[in-house]
Order: sequence, then C-alpha cells, then structure tokens
Amino acid sequence: MSHTPQSILKDIFGYKEFRQYQREVIDSVLQKKDTLVVMPTGGGKSICYQIPAMIFPGLTVVISPLISLMKDQVNQLNQVGIPAVVLNSSIPNREYAKNMQQVEKGTAKLLYVAPETLLLPRTQKLLQHVNLDCITVDEAHCISEWGHDFRPEYRQIAEVRQHFPQAACIALTATATPRVQSDIKNSLNFPAGNEYIASFDRKNLLLQVVDKINAMQQTLDFLKKHQGEAGIIYCFSRNQVDDTAAILQDRGFSALPYHAGMDASDRTDTQEKFIRDDVDIIVATVAFGMGINKSNVRFVVHYDLPKNIESYYQEIGRAGRDDLPAECLLFLGFGDIRKIRFFFKEKSEKERQIAEAQLQALLRYAEFDGCRRKPLLKYFGQEYSKSDCGMCDNCCSDQKDLQDLTIQAQKFLSCVIRTGEIFGANYIADVLRGSKNRRILNFRHNRLSTYDIGGELTKKQWGLLSNQLVRQGFLLRSEEVNGGLRLAEKALHLLRGEEKFQAEMVEDNQAPRTSIREVDISNYDRELFDELRKYRKRLAEQANLPPYVIFSDKSLVDMASCYPQSEEAFLMIHGVGEEKNKRYSQGFRQIIQRYCKSKGIEEKSTGHRRLTAQRRHKKPLKYMVTGEAFNEGKSIDQLAAQDNIQTQTVISHLVRYVREGNTLRHHNFRKDYPELDNMNESIAKAFEKHGDLRLGPVFAELKGSISYELLNVFLLQQIVDAQESA
Ligand code: ADP
Ligand code: ZN
Repeated sequence: MSHTPQSILKDIFGYKEFRQYQREVIDSVLQKKDTLVVMPTGGGKSICYQIPAMIFPGLTVVISPLISLMKDQVNQLNQVGIPAVVLNSSIPNREYAKNMQQVEKGTAKLLYVAPETLLLPRTQKLLQHVNLDCITVDEAHCISEWGHDFRPEYRQIAEVRQHFPQAACIALTATATPRVQSDIKNSLNFPAGNEYIASFDRKNLLLQVVDKINAMQQTLDFLKKHQGEAGIIYCFSRNQVDDTAAILQDRGFSALPYHAGMDASDRTDTQEKFIRDDVDIIVATVAFGMGINKSNVRFVVHYDLPKNIESYYQEIGRAGRDDLPAECLLFLGFGDIRKIRFFFKEKSEKERQIAEAQLQALLRYAEFDGCRRKPLLKYFGQEYSKSDCGMCDNCCSDQKDLQDLTIQAQKFLSCVIRTGEIFGANYIADVLRGSKNRRILNFRHNRLSTYDIGGELTKKQWGLLSNQLVRQGFLLRSEEVNGGLRLAEKALHLLRGEEKFQAEMVEDNQAPRTSIREVDISNYDRELFDELRKYRKRLAEQANLPPYVIFSDKSLVDMASCYPQSEEAFLMIHGVGEEKNKRYSQGFRQIIQRYCKSKGIEEKSTGHRRLTAQRRHKKPLKYMVTGEAFNEGKSIDQLAAQDNIQTQTVISHLVRYVREGNTLRHHNFRKDYPELDNMNESIAKAFEKHGDLRLGPVFAELKGSISYELLNVFLLQQIVDAQESA
C-alpha cells in the first residue's frame, strides 16, 4: 500500500478532499516540526495527527483530558482499520495490560493517554522502550491558566517532551484567543511560527436568535419540525432542566435531563443513550457536551442566554459535525440578562468588568440585524467578507412586514422618561396599560400623563416594541443588575416627530417566528435513509458501538441519494474506506439493492450531486404570492384588503418580487400616488447618493418628509421602468 496523506484520506477514511489546513498541518508534522493547530469544534482536527501517525514508522501518543472521548476515538480508528489503544484509569486491568503490550510490540500506531497516566513512571518506562515519532497534545488549551479548562498535569508535558527529542509535537485546540495560543506555544517550547489557524466559520450551522416570549411554546413549535432528530437544549439552571425535560416527555418527545446535580452513573447512562441514538433530546446545563463526539446532532437550542460568545460558540459547535445542515436557536430573553448579572455580584470588580464586557459582546451579536456571521467571527478576530451567508435568520428572513408604530414608540419613550429611566419594559408596559399593581401605586406612577394610554397593545406586544426600540438604537439597556431602559439621543428626534419608527408587530396570540426558512439537504430518499438508519442501529447494537462510529449520517445521506449497488459505487460514498467497505459494503448494498428493485430505481453516479445545505421553502414566500397575485390582475388595495396588511407592505413585497428578477404586469404605480409628482427629483438624488439597497439612509436624507411607502413606490417604478425598457 502506498502511504501518501492523500491516499490515506481516500482509502482509509473515505473522504475526497482535505479541509482547510489539514494538508499543510500533516506535511508540517511529517517534517517533524512542532505545530500548533487551531480549528473550530468539528473542524477536523483529528485527521491532522491521525494521518501522520499512519505514515510514521513509530508510535504517536495522543494526550487528551477527556476519558470518555478517548474510547470513542479509538473505536472509530479501529473501525477504519487503524490499530489504536487507550490507557487511562477507566480501563479494566486485563485490557490495560494488553494495551501496554501492543504498544511495546509496536503493533499499535496510536496510543491515547490521559495526562495523569502519561506522567506515571510505568508509562514513561514503556515509552522509553519504543520508537516515539509524535506527541499529540489534544485540547491543548488545558495547558493555559487563561483557558476555560486548566489542567495542572498539562503543565508537565513539556518536561516529558524533553525525553523524546526525536518526536514531533502537535498541539490542537478550538480556543481562539491569542493569549491562550501563545501560552500553549510557550509552555511547550515551540519555536515561533508554524501555526495554522483555520476559519471559525461553520458553514452548515443555521444561526437564529428570537425574542423569548413563551419559550416553552416556542420550543415545542421548533421541536415539531425536528421530530426524530438528535438535539441539545441548554438551560441556565438545574431546575429549569428538570422542568423542561419533564414537559417534553409529557408531550411525547424522547428527552432526558442532564446536569451536575445528578448521580455520576445516571449522567453516564444518559450520555450513552444519546450517543447511541436511544434518546433524541438532551435537556442540559452547560455541564453537558464536553465528552460528546456524536456527529449527527441536528439542533442546539439555547433556552436561556449563554454567558458569553465563547461558550455559545462551543455549544452550537456540537451540532452538525457531520457537515450536514444543523439549526442553532437562541432565545433572547431580557430576564435572562438580569439572571446572568445577578451572578456577577459574587465576583471581584475586575472579574465583573470582564464578565460584563463578554455579556455585552454576546448581546451585540444577538441584537445584530445584519449577517450574524460577521459579529460572531469578529469576536474570534476573523473577518467575514461575504454579505449574505444564506444560513442565518437575518440573511434568510423574508422581508419583514414593517408597520408605522411612531405613535406607540412615542408613548413608550415618554413613559420611560417620566418614570425616571430606571425601569424595564414590563414595568413600562404596565404603566402604559394602566395596571394597578402595588409597585406602580407606591411610586404614584398612576398619576403620570402616560398612565393608561396604551391599551391598544398587549403587554407582550409592548415588550416586542421595546426590543425593537433597543435594536434600532432608540433605547439603551442599563448595565446594572436591576437597571432599566434609558433613552439614546436618537430617541429625541422620534419624540419630536422628526423621525418615524417602523417595526414589526405580531398578533398577540402569535408566537414570533422560530424558523425562517426550512433548511434541508437536497434530494435524498428519506425512506431509504430510514431503512439504512435502522440497519445501522442493529449493527451498532451487535458491536456495542455508537451508530455514528459505523457510518455518519452524512454517509447514509450519500447512500440514500446515489443508491450505490455495486462495490465500486459503494467505495465512492463519503466515509467509505477500504476497511469499512470490507466490513459493511455487503449488508448495506443488499438493502439498497432490494429497495431499488422494489421501486425501479437505478444507481446514480456520485459525481453529480453535492451534499450542501440548501434552503427549501415549505411555505411559498409571501412576496412571491403577492407578486403573482398582482400579475393575475389584483390591485394593490385588493391585495392589502385580502391579506389584511397595509398597502405599504404590498408595495414592499412587490419591490422584493421584481428585485429577485421577476417581472410585473404593466402598471403605472406613480399614478396611484400623485403626491410623488413634485418630489421626484429630490428622491432620485437621495437614492443616487445612498444606493437603493436600504431605505433608511434615503429616508433620513429626506429628513423623514417622504414616507417609506412613497419611497418604495418610487423604487418600484424605477425598477419596472428599467425592466420594460431593457
Ligand atoms: P474536531 O476534533 O476538530 O472537533 P473531528 O476531527 O472530530 O473534529 O472531525 C469532525 C468530523 O469531520 C469527523 O466526523 C471527521 O471524520 C470529519 N472530517 C474530518 N476531516 C474531513 C475531511 N477532509 N473530509 C470529510 N470529513 C472530514
Ligand atoms: Zn448571514
């Protein structure tokens, strides 16, 4: 067998190409250079040392703090035919001795050890007697006191290294902070340079943030779309975990709780069930996930706000390791901010400042209204250059149905001022709605001119309005634990009527959107996929292994889209190398053959499809419906009346419709709006200056004298005219 990195990737792992920096890292290690690798969770770090290990004549030692993961990795390696063994305190004596022997005899290519096991004299002695080519330090941030998971034993790795000058050292981590990175290099005595920092963008994760209104109902709605899929729901407290899990079980979902308050054995048991696809959903505190390598996690929900971007990113990183699309949903609840700050109280002043800054960065992400990948990657010091990722709520959402809520906004802002800019949205809503609760009476806020002038919106709707005032920069949230809302300077223009406020408003009984568009994998046969999945589960049970160790979901999806029946075709499937072909080809192909025969389906060539995230529209998009109805002859007023929306919404749908390249029947829109006639020139100028992608700047340039509706009509006419003359 020829042993090039490329042939090992293909023949052993069954993958077609290297991901970013894998090839470079492998070459560097093969040249026995000390190498630092920073890749996001799920980025593909393991292959960076596993492929060199296959090429080196001697042994590769892998130091890892996660005992539960080691066994999993060794299983996966054995499945592809790579001899690897593990030594740690959880291994039964006989197996331990056998594993030591395999290392001694040189039959094992990789040895996974816990740091404390590495430091034992007998391990040291063992290693002295073998040819050691590479020392791998996995989860290398554990070396740094600045990392989130410091392990004192990691500090002693440098000393161990000195006994093996011939071995290359590779350190891997998903921690992006430069401080931790330089700590790793210093502690391990790495020379300068030779570090590979991959992009932190995980393209297959759909990022979503929604206002938390009725989190339980919102979660249930979300889960309905993910029936039978594996996912994690993160909660703030143990109680919340228990309650949520109980409700989900009650509603018939396959869910279990997980938190540090449970027995160790219950926890292991729960984790094991999840890994083996015996339970779909784990409701957990952040204690869950460190030791999880499960590749088919399809969603991660943050029921409560995470502490900072770093932990958020770690947690969502557990979804979609198989590269198939996965959904990440974050509930943004303002009560949660208070809860998080409450714990700041116990910290020293300096710690509190750091924690506050981290929280602010997270809020900036959550309240950002452009592509979410920008603030997320920026936090990790990386630039996201595309303007539309196609995989976050802001990039995917249909144009929002904005309404003019200037008056309501003015009421809300006045009430914030009159109550002294110290209360939160709930309290303000109560005052506006004329509540007689004791706090209001104590403060005598029932005597304010803004008391009981806001019956037109429910408390929930006032809350939503408040969030949007914050998002658009009219209100600021105080950074104190019990702090409330205060006005930004911009708000004064709104109060004086110099500026308008446009926002989205939902009906009271309607939960806000939890999923913008359906994301799915293109064209695979779900029925076949389910059969293959069942078969995989049976095999896994027989072999006492987690199902994903046999084949990842991505491999099954690949099979269920190409229907490989010949061995040759089966070898082309993602994740099928020589060993897995030998072990599993026949069984899987038999199922596929039988299935194809019964349905009259033929094998497809693998060259023609791509397994990428694609948007699928389950419901037709609103602007498309509007555009088509208009083309069928409906007038703007009719469309507005029929859908109970404002004419300006109809117009904005039509703008979107033509912008996406559709044509509209001939119509003079300007005629319906004679007030446009003497403003054409100034509007045209403003558009010229600011471009026509966003109306806000044009609106501001014209000092709010021309409504958004008229601006949209102008724009629509312009595009339609251009289309017609083209
Ligand atoms: P990390 O350790 O960085 O979190 P892993 O090494 O576990 O990530 O890799 C994540 C997943 O991606 C694994 O299922 C792995 O087999 C797969 N993978 C790694 N490299 C490639 C590649 N070049 N092509 C396809 N899949 C890959
Ligand atoms: Zn985006």
